Amino acid sequence: MTSTGRVVVVGAGITGLAAAFELHKRGLDVVLLEAADRVGGKLITTTFAGMQIDEAADAFLARVPWAIELAEELGLRDDLVSPAARSAFIFSYGKLRPIPQPMVLGVPLDMDTLADSGVLSPGGVERAQLDLERTSNEVSGDESIGSIVRRRLGDEVLERLVDPLLGGINAGDSDNLSMDASASQLAHAARQDASFIRELLDVRRRIPPNPDAPVFYAHPDGMGRFVDELVARLGDIIVTEAPVTGLERANGGWRLLSTAGVFDADAVIITTPANIAGTLVADHSRVAAAELESITYASVALLTMSYDKATIGHPLDGSGFLVPKPEQQVITACSWASTKWAHLGETDQAILRVSAGHIGNDRAAYLPDDELIAEIRADLERIMGITTAPTDVRISRWINSFAQYTPGHLSRVATIDDALVDDAPGIFVAGASYRGVGIPACIDQAHQAVRSAERFLA
Ligand SMILES: Cc1cc2nc3c(=O)[nH]c(=O)nc-3n(C[C@H](O)[C@H](O)[C@H](O)COP(=O)(O)OP(=O)(O)OC[C@H]3O[C@@H](n4cnc5c(N)ncnc54)[C@H](O)[C@@H]3O)c2cc1C
Repeated sequence: MTSTGRVVVVGAGITGLAAAFELHKRGLDVVLLEAADRVGGKLITTTFAGMQIDEAADAFLARVPWAIELAEELGLRDDLVSPAARSAFIFSYGKLRPIPQPMVLGVPLDMDTLADSGVLSPGGVERAQLDLERTSNEVSGDESIGSIVRRRLGDEVLERLVDPLLGGINAGDSDNLSMDASASQLAHAARQDASFIRELLDVRRRIPPNPDAPVFYAHPDGMGRFVDELVARLGDIIVTEAPVTGLERANGGWRLLSTAGVFDADAVIITTPANIAGTLVADHSRVAAAELESITYASVALLTMSYDKATIGHPLDGSGFLVPKPEQQVITACSWASTKWAHLGETDQAILRVSAGHIGNDRAAYLPDDELIAEIRADLERIMGITTAPTDVRISRWINSFAQYTPGHLSRVATIDDALVDDAPGIFVAGASYRGVGIPACIDQAHQAVRSAERFLA
């Protein structure tokens, strides 16, 4: 397929960078417009405690190919590392307890290890077991993860295992997260069998998991290394401090208005959060704009904290812990980064990455620094017994940064795509607001948007 014309990509997070890189490789004329004075969006690595440590995403899933393939193309594949510590804990019933294995997305598959872990009450374990006696696999469309897990395995499995794991990924509330969009593996299992446990065990028998296969990959220089490599290849294709504020039809194509100038395009790929995309397309597609603007976002604070290793009484014998909502005061999750990643564990400093805030409770994201640190320290004392002061703290605030995939999300996204084809041909949307929040899913969406733009231009 030979496509000609200029494509303007709006937003230089990983989606926009990957889209621009792909278009550039394919020989198309491309411009990448970024509102901020830096590129990378939610990929940002800065120096903390003398090390390169991410302020947001720090790793990506290894079982899907898109980020690994990009690493290969950027010459980074051989540098990738996987976590040195795999086991993790849940703070449940007043104690840190090992996450019971085996489990799939929070669904426990062995009732003995579940009972031994103490994560659930004895009544909660009994209720979970009832899943194996179910005979009807009714699923009403795209249910929330909460509704189907509560029905099959009980409230405690949902609140103390599935929600901390899945809800934690998007700072969401699993009672209002689409199972099709946020947990497709569970959604598939739910439709195959009346029992989650039976079906997920059956899948493991058919395709036994490889215990040595890495689950995540990271780069020792941080995710910012991907950004740097992409910037090096894109050069002056990238225009920073160029917020796109308007989109008009012009010369049979599109004209983008920005404080950095006016940019004409034959096709446009918008990779900003959906609410901003909604504003940009509002004059051209009321249907797409309404759906785009209906997607909501959660805000979180992420604190990176360093401690003298010798002063932390609690063993850092795992990758960290999650705090289920019934046990939460302020911390939702804590990564023991200097144990989880060997390259961050080489000094006498222990590094903790602590998250606070989720949809429906964004208080932490807006607390003044000193109050936030005081609350986090009190919670670390409650959970890990840490009474000493950190040697350093960095606060990264991620306001309206986690798209919420509520039930019906995938059909909402299909409606957006269809409405744009009908009402605003040549405009495409991609990124974390649509078909997956993880870095690999964003790269995959970037490539799909590039293919759509190419077909449109052919
Ligand atoms: C704290 C945190 C931790 C995370 N951890 C992980 C993890 O470990 N692994 C993982 O896989 N994922 C993780 N994620 C998710 C992942 O990082 C994001 O989903 C992904 O990076 C989003 O990329 P994006 O390009 O879609 O959007 P963004 O990164 O949001 O990029 C959008 C860009 O658009 C720009 N923009 C906005 N408006 C305009 C405009 N009008 N004109 C021009 N530009 C504009 C923005 O400035 C931004 O640069 C995490 C996210 C957060 C916030």
